[in-house]
Amino acid sequence: MSVQTPQTIVPDYSFLKKVEFESKIKASACFQCRKCTNGCPVTFAMDFYPDQILRFIHLGLRDLVLNCATIWVCASCETCTTRCPNEIDIAGLMDYLKESAEKEGIGIKDNKTYMFHRVFLDDVKKRGRVHELRLMNEYMLKTGEGVKKLKDDSWKQDLKLGLGMLTKGRLPLLPKGIKNKKEVKRILENID
Ligand code: SF4
Ligand code: SF4
Repeated sequence: MSVQTPQTIVPDYSFLKKVEFESKIKASACFQCRKCTNGCPVTFAMDFYPDQILRFIHLGLRDLVLNCATIWVCASCETCTTRCPNEIDIAGLMDYLKESAEKEGIGIKDNKTYMFHRVFLDDVKKRGRVHELRLMNEYMLKTGEGVKKLKDDSWKQDLKLGLGMLTKGRLPLLPKGIKNKKEVKRILENID
C-alpha cells in the first residue's frame, strides 16, 4: 500500500491583501464557521464551498479561486452575507472575484456559466430587458450546446418545454423594450 505524503502549502498573503484592498471586504475576518455554506442555496452546483473560497484566499491560492466554477455559480442572493457572524460581504466578494477573473482572462474560456452571464448582460444592454428566446439561441450557438442537443436529441425535450411555456404566455415570441433603454445601457457600460 502506498502512503501519500500530504502536500504542504506555504501561505502567500499577497493575494489576500490585494483582495481586501481592491474589494474593501475584510476576508481575513473569516474564522471558518461555515454558516455561509450552510445557508447557500446553490452549493450542489459548486466545485468549492463559499467557506473554502475564503480559506483559499487566506492561503493565496489565486489561480484555484479565479478558475473555480463557484464564483460563477453564485446567484448573488446574499444569504451568506446576512448569515456571516463577522459581517463579511461574501456575495460582494464573489462579484469581485468574477470581475477579477474576467479582467485577467482567467477561467472564462469554455466556461458556459460565464457565457450565460455575458449573453444575458449584452441582451439587457441592447434592449433594457432580456428576451428569453433570443438569449437561449445565442447561448446555444456560442457554447456549442445547440449542436450537442441536435446530436443527442435533447432538443426535443427543450422544444416541448418551450411550447408549453409559450402556450401559457410565459415565453414571449417578440422582445419587449423598456422606456429608459439608454439609461440602462449607460449604467451597464460604466460597470462593464
Ligand atoms: S460565515 Fe463568515 S466567518 Fe463563517 S465561514 Fe463563512 S465567511 Fe467565514
Ligand atoms: S450569495 Fe452566492 S455564495 Fe452567497 S449564499 Fe447566495 S449563492 Fe451562495
